[in-house]
Amino acid sequence: MNIKTLPHVVIIGAGFGGMEVARKLAKAPIRITLIDKHNYHLFQPLLYQVAIAGLVPSQIAYPLRTIFRRQKNIAFQMGEVTDIDFDARYVKLNGSVIAYDYLVLAVGGQTNFFGNQSVEQNGFQLKSIEAAIGLRNHLLKTFEQASREVDVDKRKAMLTFVVVGGGPTGVETAGALAELITHVLIKDYPHMDLKDVRVLLLEAGKTVMPSYPDELRKATNDLLKNKKVEVLVDTKLVDYNGLQVTLGDGRRIPTQTLIWTAGVRAARMLDSLGVEQAGAGRVRVADSLQLKDHAEVFVIGDAAYFENGNRQPLPMLSTVAIQEGKAAAQNIQKILKGQKPEPFHYKDPGLLATIGRNAAVARIWGLSFSGFIAWVIWVFLHIYRLIGFRNRLLVLINWAWEYLFYENQVRLITKE
Ligand SMILES: Cc1cc2nc3c(=O)[nH]c(=O)nc-3n(C[C@H](O)[C@H](O)[C@H](O)COP(=O)(O)OP(=O)(O)OC[C@H]3O[C@@H](n4cnc5c(N)ncnc54)[C@H](O)[C@@H]3O)c2cc1C
Repeated sequence: MNIKTLPHVVIIGAGFGGMEVARKLAKAPIRITLIDKHNYHLFQPLLYQVAIAGLVPSQIAYPLRTIFRRQKNIAFQMGEVTDIDFDARYVKLNGSVIAYDYLVLAVGGQTNFFGNQSVEQNGFQLKSIEAAIGLRNHLLKTFEQASREVDVDKRKAMLTFVVVGGGPTGVETAGALAELITHVLIKDYPHMDLKDVRVLLLEAGKTVMPSYPDELRKATNDLLKNKKVEVLVDTKLVDYNGLQVTLGDGRRIPTQTLIWTAGVRAARMLDSLGVEQAGAGRVRVADSLQLKDHAEVFVIGDAAYFENGNRQPLPMLSTVAIQEGKAAAQNIQKILKGQKPEPFHYKDPGLLATIGRNAAVARIWGLSFSGFIAWVIWVFLHIYRLIGFRNRLLVLINWAWEYLFYENQVRLITKE
């Protein structure tokens, strides 16, 4: 069989969605080109662990060429796709073009600052390995500075950490940061006065974790309180100049650290493709995940706007991206067999978020869990979902070490 005559599937993006498509098409009579601007798959839900010096980047990222080493029908190309011609059916990459028969757009999302340039310029975000390492270095450097600062007000500002966004990422980051400070850094800086340290979590809405049921919202608030995180709901940030936060009611909070987790939107490259976009810039797709005007193009994951039964868009979650990836792969195979593609249905696997060591909230099989049991579920689910045996083992050892000794191991300030 001449492999060049096989239908060509191009997948842009090797995140959760793109990887699932590639794997599910492993045995199909097609050839696949998988494109990503990075040479690794990144497990984004654990990025905050890199920022709080809990894990090193290589434990949450895995080289794509290694992942697909044994898959015969796939070729990986590293590079950033800058343009797509849907009529001529090719993508532009690294100065040349790649023609496709079927295209899967799985380019994910990026942080949404909602036009607030002061936060974009002066705040930190958690979306890439570089950003997580930058935040880790900043946190550790700030403690070094604070340890030698004699001016009380300046020291207080250095030791005030503001996290914006009361969704799972903000809650996880605030909880883990509070724990890093109160259990680990305090041992490294025995002369530092703990009462100067503040971790604040700001949420513009009425509650943290708005998509979670009441009992888990309450449990989250209690767990954050235990970790000494100050939760400010109904609190809108309007400006951050790198030295102080200004709130909607005019209050000011001096701080050198603002971590923005309050918004995600679809990748910007989608804006220039001339396709129909809906909320957060996501591309509107048919119920089979195809583009309405180009049935050979599928859009999945954070990049896709897909409404569920209650006319709400599916959330930007890895579980959605993975299920859509599987469905897109099945539909491509159906089309190749001359069958009709099927509509996609999302099966909600539940909710899960951790709030530091020993504490998490979960909603699984219709039951709510909080505290230690939820945390054990969180640990094992994340270990299971990480790619590569070596990564799973190392992360398990790291977490066991932290659990037993209250010791984050990667407290190195490195050059960026
Ligand atoms: C800090 C954080 C915590 C999170 N926590 C959770 C959680 O606990 N549970 C959960 O379910 N979800 C969580 N998410 C969301 C989850 O990570 C995303 O929903 C998921 O990654 C979306 O998958 P995707 O395949 O659509 O995109 P991604 O996984 O983002 O992958 C997109 C890929 O496309 C590549 N790419 C983008 N543009 C181009 C281009 N032009 N050319 C080539 N390549 C390109 C990128 O490099 C990337 O590899 C979290 C996200 C973040 C940032």
